[in-house]
Amino acid sequence: MNPDFFDAIVIGGGPGGSCTASYLALAGKRVLLLEKEFFPRFHIGESLLPYNTAIFRDLGLLPVLKAAGFPRKTGAQFHLANGAQSTQFIFSRGVFTREHETVQVERAVFDHILLKRARELGADAREGWTVQSFESGNDGVGVKAADPDGKVHSFRAAFLIDASGRGNVTGNQENLREFHPRHKKLSVFGHFAGVQRDPGDRGGDTVIVRAENKWFWLIPVSPEKTSLGLVIDKDEFAKAGGDPEKIFQRWCDSTPMVKERVANARLVGKLQTTSDFSYFNKRYVGHRLLRVGDAAGFMDPIFSAGVFLAMWSGKLASEAVIESLGANSDGAGRLRRYEKRVDGALRFYWRMVEYYYTWPFMELLLQPRPHHHLPDAVNAVLAGELEPGWSVRWRLRYFYFLVKLQSRFPIVPHLPFGPARRGKTETHECAESH
Ligand SMILES: Cc1cc2nc3c(=O)[nH]c(=O)nc-3n(C[C@H](O)[C@H](O)[C@H](O)COP(=O)(O)OP(=O)(O)OC[C@H]3O[C@@H](n4cnc5c(N)ncnc54)[C@H](O)[C@@H]3O)c2cc1C
Repeated sequence: MNPDFFDAIVIGGGPGGSCTASYLALAGKRVLLLEKEFFPRFHIGESLLPYNTAIFRDLGLLPVLKAAGFPRKTGAQFHLANGAQSTQFIFSRGVFTREHETVQVERAVFDHILLKRARELGADAREGWTVQSFESGNDGVGVKAADPDGKVHSFRAAFLIDASGRGNVTGNQENLREFHPRHKKLSVFGHFAGVQRDPGDRGGDTVIVRAENKWFWLIPVSPEKTSLGLVIDKDEFAKAGGDPEKIFQRWCDSTPMVKERVANARLVGKLQTTSDFSYFNKRYVGHRLLRVGDAAGFMDPIFSAGVFLAMWSGKLASEAVIESLGANSDGAGRLRRYEKRVDGALRFYWRMVEYYYTWPFMELLLQPRPHHHLPDAVNAVLAGELEPGWSVRWRLRYFYFLVKLQSRFPIVPHLPFGPARRGKTETHECAESH
């Protein structure tokens, strides 16, 4: 056996890469995973979705994640920046929601757990190895990668899985990446100690605070630390002077719902910025090549779907590869079906993201009417329902129709983003009696 020939090579050891490698190793395949960083390393993307749980179960990760002491997430909250309205989705109350809780994670710890699991299951997972290029031939794919000392090595495999995230190794080589024409956002974020949390289960929720054209997330990532981030238009950031610390501080101070929660908080580490995170590659597959997670595409962190999409697509990719190896073929048809499913799921999410940035969507979300179980359909999507059945689909379509209606003929009162109206918060819990 050629020691440098594998059933599959995986580029990247984030959630998408580790998950793909784990499923392949579980099926007894020879898999090489090359990760350019040494773990643990910081990564943004800390709020998980309940539908992640099935994958954790498959990979035997639930006890390890529990032992890591991550905060439990059982719901998500949306607040108007001025404090006038808020709504909470509790996953266990959603009639279409099939998984009811997950964890919020510090990615340095979480990604390391996943990578170690891939290794335990039999993957040859190497840290400090940077993939430089790939080429595909009839009978396999080859990659060139630099080891931690900078020496370049060649490896070959029957299949290549690109899970390099925004590194986008194969998409860049083939010039496939397209940035979203309208969503030109920038995010400033950091970890804070001493952020005020709600009591009980609510304290584990992801909290979204929405201003007119910007929003904050608050995510408890450990018993002490809370991730706090601001998402803002790049243009507005530039117009405001482009200084992340000053802009972040100014917006925290002028957003009552954030200001009161961070009154006694202190930054742990440093503030970071990232931008241009909404993009997709024109193809998610190539000859014997599959792109998973952010290496396929990503759009906006609002619904905390990135990690789940990465792991879900990693699972699908591993299935396509395992079946193709079994059939001793290049799997062209399977790869096309993989691409179609991933494309469908990404578009499904992206549609909801597009609506999120319209104000009528927020007005309906923050003033839910429990008709026809519409909030339950939204609840399912917030939990990670990527490929819902008709019962959720028609409700979402109806909900989007109401959003359009709201912009012309208000069916719920218009909401002001303006000055604070503290002390008058109207809170909704999104659940119908059932
Ligand atoms: C501001 C912001 C907030 C977010 N918040 C959330 C959230 O709350 N919840 C959520 O689910 N998602 C969130 N996301 C999205 C989330 O970060 C990603 O979707 C997720 O990390 C994708 O996982 P992945 O495995 O595809 O890629 P990654 O996690 O990025 O992993 C890719 C890995 O590939 C490695 N790599 C890159 N290039 C190479 C190379 N040449 N050779 C070898 N290795 C390489 C990298 O070092 C990295 O470890 C957020 C994103 C942004 C921008």
